[in-house]
Amino acid sequence: MEENLKAIVPHQFGGHSLCNARFCGYKRKPGSSYTHRSLPYKTSLQDSNLRQKLQQLFDPIIYNAGHYIDLGSSQQCEHANKEVTLRAPKSHHYGNSSSLDYRVHATAAFINEGRHYISKGYSMLGLSPGTHTVRHAEKCMKQREKKREKAKSPSTKLRRLLLKQERATNQGANEALEGDTYQSGKFICRTL
Ligand SMILES: [Zn+2]
Repeated sequence: MEENLKAIVPHQFGGHSLCNARFCGYKRKPGSSYTHRSLPYKTSLQDSNLRQKLQQLFDPIIYNAGHYIDLGSSQQCEHANKEVTLRAPKSHHYGNSSSLDYRVHATAAFINEGRHYISKGYSMLGLSPGTHTVRHAEKCMKQREKKREKAKSPSTKLRRLLLKQERATNQGANEALEGDTYQSGKFICRTL
């Protein structure tokens, strides 16, 4: 991990001696010209000032590489956060009541068990599970399963990559046309 972290900054600037073939296209095909898919103009960065600053940012991360080994993708975590905010919206202050606990538990049940948690909960309380509730849950679960299968297929992955590439190109072009629209610590007001 430490070795790979060390390779990140040089890689963006066209130095691939530290790179690993697992993530570096240049290492996989050293002969052919390599394009940076996610950088503006798809070419390696040049600014040595930027490189120095980036290196300063990355040094402590590289030094602490051992701490990051166990981290996973944050995508699932972000999804869970989103689901909780649907059941406990910020605009309704549930934070002070035990209602929040139930809402978070309900979200966990929804994510882990699926939508059937509602009818199961009703049954446990001795209430009717609800014909429509059950049917709706069935439908939603089928959709979820379908979506999951589809996301795994190679064609979907290819499409994701294509869209990412398109985004990068558009962003690069827009930045060249409009200049920076946002810069941290500065308020930029643009007049036409
Ligand atoms: Zn590289």
